[in-house]
Amino acid sequence: MSKKLVAITGASSGIGKALAMLFASKGHPVLLMARRIEILNALPIKEKVTANVDVTNFEQVQTAINNAEAVYGPIDLMINNAGIMPLDNYVDQSLKDKYDTIDVNVKGVINGMDAVLKQMIKNQTGTIVNISSIAGRYTSNAHSIYNGAKSAVNAITEQARKENAHNNIRFILIEPGMVDTNLLNLTSEGEILNSYNKAKKSLNGGLTPEQVADVIAYAYELPQSVNLKEILLTHTKQVV
Ligand code: NDP
Repeated sequence: MSKKLVAITGASSGIGKALAMLFASKGHPVLLMARRIEILNALPIKEKVTANVDVTNFEQVQTAINNAEAVYGPIDLMINNAGIMPLDNYVDQSLKDKYDTIDVNVKGVINGMDAVLKQMIKNQTGTIVNISSIAGRYTSNAHSIYNGAKSAVNAITEQARKENAHNNIRFILIEPGMVDTNLLNLTSEGEILNSYNKAKKSLNGGLTPEQVADVIAYAYELPQSVNLKEILLTHTKQVV
């Protein structure tokens, strides 16, 4: 019998892609969601459902989940990973970049939670992993809106966890430091890019996406009665 269904948003790159490969290698069927569906389709995974999903659109998230559950049964692990990080100083950042950051990083997480939570409550089991960031704990230059978005994810996750403890549902908050992915591809301001890349180089790129995926799998594979509620992880040489 195959293992339980795992759903991952933002599975076409970085941490999400590493999660897709890891959970598939462990024998889980996976629902992979992102806008670049051709990348999802090309992943060498047999038991997968892929869906062209923009996480800011609740209908698209819910339809993908319904379609995958019709094949593989209820989702046991929902990983709200999709995110963007266009960096700029507050005064210089466009309203579009500000709104997009909130829409994808906050509304996207809410959409993922809402699409699975009622079913998990009905089944009295399930795990929701929300990918926040070290930026949800500490503010830093050029990160104000991203800081705000990730802080919101922290607060939403914490309170939803409290309200659903009696439903046997685990909410796990993951707060990585620098990870070697494409996350900075929406940032164009030269000085900000330079200083980020300099910091990244000093950490040999930071954590790998595979290392973050391993930590998430560790937390998930603990018994359902053990909730590793919040994990702040960085490259050892990263100071904050
Ligand atoms: P990547 O840029 O490599 O991956 C981001 C993923 O999000 C892509 O698969 C992308 O897919 C998806 N995505 C972006 N916008 C949308 C959208 N509107 N709808 C659906 N999917 C979307 O970055 P990471 O792997 O680094 O990022 C993953 C998560 O980790 C993010 O939440 C990020 O904030 C967080 N994080 C990353 C850190 C880092 O240093 N890299 C540190 C701390 C946290 P597509 O474009 O195909 O839709």
